[in-house]
Amino acid sequence: MPKFLGPVAGFGVTFATMFKKANTEYYPYEKKVTAPRFHGRHQLNRYADGLEKCIGCELCAWACPADAIFVEGADNTDEERFSPGERYGRNYQINYLRCIFCGLCIEACPTRALTMTNEFELADTSRASLIFTKEQLLAPLYEGMVPAPHEMYPGTTDTDYYLGKVTGAAPGTVTQGRSGEPAEAGAQGTEAGR
Ligand code: SF4
Ligand code: SF4
Repeated sequence: MPKFLGPVAGFGVTFATMFKKANTEYYPYEKKVTAPRFHGRHQLNRYADGLEKCIGCELCAWACPADAIFVEGADNTDEERFSPGERYGRNYQINYLRCIFCGLCIEACPTRALTMTNEFELADTSRASLIFTKEQLLAPLYEGMVPAPHEMYPGTTDTDYYLGKVTGAAPGTVTQGRSGEPAEAGAQGTEAGR
């Protein structure tokens, strides 16, 4: 191409774009649907009876290349049980100022306690509000769940939970150690107890 045509060729992209349909996104009024496996905000999952899946092992924190996760584990007791095994995550935080949404933490989690949702609206105006606490990350309570802490389904082991044999809280299950009204138990039973 002759040298004098260089600037004209440069404008070629501009001219071609002028006749294309504008690709305007009306966010936040119209929110884009993400791909099903989009890496968004994390979630700490529960078993079907409401006990927490996190065992406070810190593997997610060690796997994180951005040092964005803080975990502090503690022992479950008969008086206050948050998860089916020996340990639970007493304190759990994810710093979204550091997180790069790589997903290595969810790969490292041995109990599938930690997964990622499709939620991507994580902008805010303060540092503190972007450090999510365990309470913010915990999955919602669905039907048949009772808020932890509470006893395990009678006659089951933590392995039964892990294998998905517990399908709801035992009738009469109540939240331990809280002065508020006890939550009603679901009555969906357990495969292990049948
Ligand atoms: S997604 Fe990646 S950067 Fe974010 S908390 Fe998990 S391991 Fe760390
Ligand atoms: S989220 Fe998973 S990997 Fe992280 S501390 Fe809890 S059980 Fe361990």
